[in-house]
Amino acid sequence: MGALADGCSVKIAVVGAGPAGLTAARILAANAHRPVVFEASDWIGGRTRTIRRDGHAVDVGAGWLASFYTETFRLLAAVGLDESLDQLDLAGASCLSDHGEIIDVPATASEAISTQIIPLAEKLRLVAWAAALLIRQPQANLKPDLRFDKIDADSHITRAVGPKAAERVFTPMVSAVFSDLSELSAALLRSWVRAGVGARFYALEGGMDSLWTRIAEDLDVRTDTPVRNIAMGRGSGIDISTDSGSSERFDACVVAAPITRVRSIIEGADLPHWLDDMRYAPHFRVYAAIEGTLERADIHPLESDEHVATVSRGPAGRLWGVIPEGHSAALVGSSGSWSHDLIDASDAAEQLWGRAREIDRGLFELSDAVLVESIRWDEAVPVMAPGHFARVKTLEQRPPLVFAGDWLVQPCIEGAVRSGIGAAKHFGLA
Ligand SMILES: Cc1cc2nc3c(=O)[nH]c(=O)nc-3n(C[C@H](O)[C@H](O)[C@H](O)COP(=O)(O)OP(=O)(O)OC[C@H]3O[C@@H](n4cnc5c(N)ncnc54)[C@H](O)[C@@H]3O)c2cc1C
Repeated sequence: MGALADGCSVKIAVVGAGPAGLTAARILAANAHRPVVFEASDWIGGRTRTIRRDGHAVDVGAGWLASFYTETFRLLAAVGLDESLDQLDLAGASCLSDHGEIIDVPATASEAISTQIIPLAEKLRLVAWAAALLIRQPQANLKPDLRFDKIDADSHITRAVGPKAAERVFTPMVSAVFSDLSELSAALLRSWVRAGVGARFYALEGGMDSLWTRIAEDLDVRTDTPVRNIAMGRGSGIDISTDSGSSERFDACVVAAPITRVRSIIEGADLPHWLDDMRYAPHFRVYAAIEGTLERADIHPLESDEHVATVSRGPAGRLWGVIPEGHSAALVGSSGSWSHDLIDASDAAEQLWGRAREIDRGLFELSDAVLVESIRWDEAVPVMAPGHFARVKTLEQRPPLVFAGDWLVQPCIEGAVRSGIGAAKHFGLA
């Protein structure tokens, strides 16, 4: 443990060049340590990936930052990218499809009261539930309230508000972003609803990956270098072996790749059994562009059995990236249980698009598109099941082996960034 115990500059392997790993590496490097970042893929940013083709810059993973992402905004300012934030205009764009009938998402309190989506009794309970939430969680800081961690989000909402609200309001909203309501801790849902009140959403000009490529410029990042084995040395240090057969000894290691990918390659560390039960929800999405102008629309199916999570379409400008002049584009995403079947299907794009056209009749044919990108995310979001936050609290984090990653905090960029800061704190830094 020599150098670590002495507080000297140490050589630290960081596994994964996503938001968590790069945040940790940046702090370590700023404090005179020597991080080396190993990245399996040929891009930087992990699940915040931007694909650039024919003038399009498509955010195929994370597409927005929320105003309550305090640490991410601090990072943007530190690297001079805070001026590149582009507030997304979501007003009036969102609709719900109720088995083919398009309904506006209620935008005001009076619209919410008159909406037919849920019965009046549940609307009143929803208002009472939301008011109690604001009182119990005065800060919109994404911190989970552990008192609600043991119960699943579906049971919590059904009990507190009613079955229609669970099915028609929360299930479509949550399955579009995370996984099924019944799989998630109620503490997760509550922290997001709380944070979402009055939140604003932003994209990054030029693509969501620009923050991470900027940070990586000042670091030693080795792309196309998957780590195959992380072995705690008998004496001091950790041996990192890569797929290319190289092996190198480090003083310490920050493991910032999805936990399902790496837990089996860590040797010699006593890891808690619950890490074996962690899983991620998959997600499949298709981005397609045509020449010409399309009206802007975001359509979400109201009933979760309608499968497609979101259809967003619009003209040139910003929409999950940059669409060049004279073009329009649409992004269709699938989440929830259907993603599991779709992710392995060879005709997944056609299936998804066909289903989306039944929901959004203004959507163009895939065969008319001039550009199509299909993106399969096997590990899109960590499933934070009931009890997850309490289990994470029990995880002992101590150098030489430290974990980072969204699964430790919240399933989003901000969660990953905070986990990276947390990892650096374990080295006595912040
Ligand atoms: C489709 C989609 C949409 C999303 N939308 C949003 C959004 O709008 N806003 C938001 O805040 N969040 C969103 N997210 C979530 C957000 O992208 C993640 O929470 C965040 O990227 C997690 O960062 P991370 O560093 O923990 O993990 P990752 O971003 O997954 O980074 C981990 C890195 O580790 C690498 N790796 C894996 N195995 C190895 C190995 N053996 N050796 C070396 N490297 C390895 C991976 O290639 C990857 O680059 C979205 C995610 C997806 C998939």
